Amino acid sequence: MLEVQNLTVRFGEKTALDRVDLTVTDGEILAVLGPSGSGKTTLLRVIAGLQAPESGSLAWDGQRLDNVASHERGFGLMFQDYALFPHRTVAGNVAFGLRMAHMPGDRIQERVAVVLDWVGLPGYQDRSVGNLSGGEQQRVALARALAPAPRMLMLDEPVGSLDRGMRERLVGELRHLFVERGITTLYVTHDQEEAFGLADRIVIMKDGTVAQEGTPEQVWHKPGDEWVARFLGFDNIIDATITGGVADTSFGSVAIASDASGSHRLVIRPDAFTVSEAGTVRGTVVTRSFRGGHFQLRVSTPSGVLLDMEIDQHPVPDVGQTVNLAIDPDAVVVLD
Ligand code: ADP
Ligand code: MG
Repeated sequence: MLEVQNLTVRFGEKTALDRVDLTVTDGEILAVLGPSGSGKTTLLRVIAGLQAPESGSLAWDGQRLDNVASHERGFGLMFQDYALFPHRTVAGNVAFGLRMAHMPGDRIQERVAVVLDWVGLPGYQDRSVGNLSGGEQQRVALARALAPAPRMLMLDEPVGSLDRGMRERLVGELRHLFVERGITTLYVTHDQEEAFGLADRIVIMKDGTVAQEGTPEQVWHKPGDEWVARFLGFDNIIDATITGGVADTSFGSVAIASDASGSHRLVIRPDAFTVSEAGTVRGTVVTRSFRGGHFQLRVSTPSGVLLDMEIDQHPVPDVGQTVNLAIDPDAVVVLD
């Protein structure tokens, strides 16, 4: 288990990490999610031993890592610019760490075959990496990181350079592999879909601090504050006055599943809405776009507040149509 405590890193005036606490338990897939510049890469570099912190401590199973050299920490690394050796074969790349560890040649060959299987590249040993697609090169980089059987794998935006379809496929495969092999993983990304699709637990970073952590479901269902809610793409954030389970808003009363009272900000998740005669919120559809499994609608209320929603029922109202909307209380989050 990795334990990071009170970690602070400064670059001149800039505080890149500010008293960060973090744990990764054995076999866990932890995603560190945050916008560009929030300190994710710095965190990974400190854990890897590539960057010295100003203060704070790092330990693995209770043993301090602070004075352990980077290559002796037992962590596998995979960065976005995966830096494969372009003139070596796939096997030559994957075997790199094993040769460094002086593994005998026949065992190297066995291990290379095993990890190439894991990443979906069986039989690729003698291919030249220069002729592989971007997705295949990422798999080789992953195999190279996994070959020495690291006690934790750390990945920094590993699929960021791939197109969307390949990214989604690879993220699904990565999760499958990490779960099946029990690989303890620290995965850094700015992409929430990647983090939610991959992780057992998510830590959200903001300006070098931990803004929130929890399982994907916990974070999704209860973003801790307005910043996290907006970062996750929840744009319906409004003022309300709450009495007895009902929130009074500029566009009408909204039932909530919370015993909060008084003035609060509310987040109404986009999946909260259904078009229904019985709905108490009225508005006019201003935009409508098809998103595969659902339509994304923006509805303008008489008070001027715009509501963004995902509608998967049929028929889907057209732009210009006036609709009545019902709001699921379980999809309304009361911020503190
Ligand atoms: P992320 O990976 O989340 O995009 P980084 O950890 O790369 O964020 O950077 C966090 C902050 O620290 C940013 O403001 C960045 O500009 C700054 N920073 C990172 N590395 C250095 C460095 N070597 N020198 C100066 N500033 C740095
Ligand atoms: Mg980064």
